Amino acid sequence: LMADQAFVTLATNDSYAKGALVLAQSLKNHQTSRKLVALIGPHVSEPSRAVLCKLYDEVRLVDVMDSGDKAHLALMKRPDLGVTFTKLHCWTLTHYSKCVFMDADTLVVCNVDDLFERDELSAAPDPGWPDCFNSGVFVFRPSIETYEKLLTFSTENGSFDGGDQGLLNSFFSDWATADISKHLPFIYNLSSIAIYTYLPAFKQYGHNAKVVHFLGKVKPWDYVYDSSSRTLKGQAVDPDLQPNYLLQWWSLFSSAIVPLMK
Ligand code: UDP
Ligand code: MN
Repeated sequence: LMADQAFVTLATNDSYAKGALVLAQSLKNHQTSRKLVALIGPHVSEPSRAVLCKLYDEVRLVDVMDSGDKAHLALMKRPDLGVTFTKLHCWTLTHYSKCVFMDADTLVVCNVDDLFERDELSAAPDPGWPDCFNSGVFVFRPSIETYEKLLTFSTENGSFDGGDQGLLNSFFSDWATADISKHLPFIYNLSSIAIYTYLPAFKQYGHNAKVVHFLGKVKPWDYVYDSSSRTLKGQAVDPDLQPNYLLQWWSLFSSAIVPLMK
């Protein structure tokens, strides 16, 4: 049943909300048949929420600090895991049988509904340490039981990188060895970093990309875009780095999202 499956993302502030908006538009442009869910934090402004509601089937406010539930108690012991805990909320979406989590800094460039044929926990290798999966794109099965296990696990073991990726890799620790069908091809989570670290591979396989992930400190929304010349300030056009996904992100933002914000 397609109605009980969803793509899920997270935005705790207005910057990441821009990413979430472009992500939703990119999923729609590639004709997804699944529902779209945005988890948002209390710091996302009213105008941003209004635009998110135009593109997402469900915009759900998650606030660990005020919830007073198990997550709240767990967070009291590990306040350093704040944003990580917010991401774990995706497991509480039990009105869906299966979901695909996607970071707000991802862009869909092909239909990826075939991801729902995979089981929990399916993800692509991390470019920095390929025996770990990258937690920017993953298939999961919402379950309160799993959610509570994750919270308990995190208070007892923490996260080796301080974020959700360290925690999830420790929890789903057999990912690297147990079941190859849970290894998503790299093209489902192509990090922009890999373009620079292995340019010949990007030239060979990059045109097959399905999801681009703008992993790292500088995000697409940090750039300044000139919509008349369709260029980014301070960025020369490099023919080696085609297609230019950063420009694609901005082109989508300025043509489809900016008009919704008026
Ligand atoms: N995120 C957020 N607010 C933050 C940091 C992160 O909403 O202040 C969410 C957002 O969905 C983001 C994800 O958590 O895509 C993971 O963080 P990020 O993409 O910055 O990490 P990276 O992929 O660069 O390691
Ligand atoms: Mn990311």
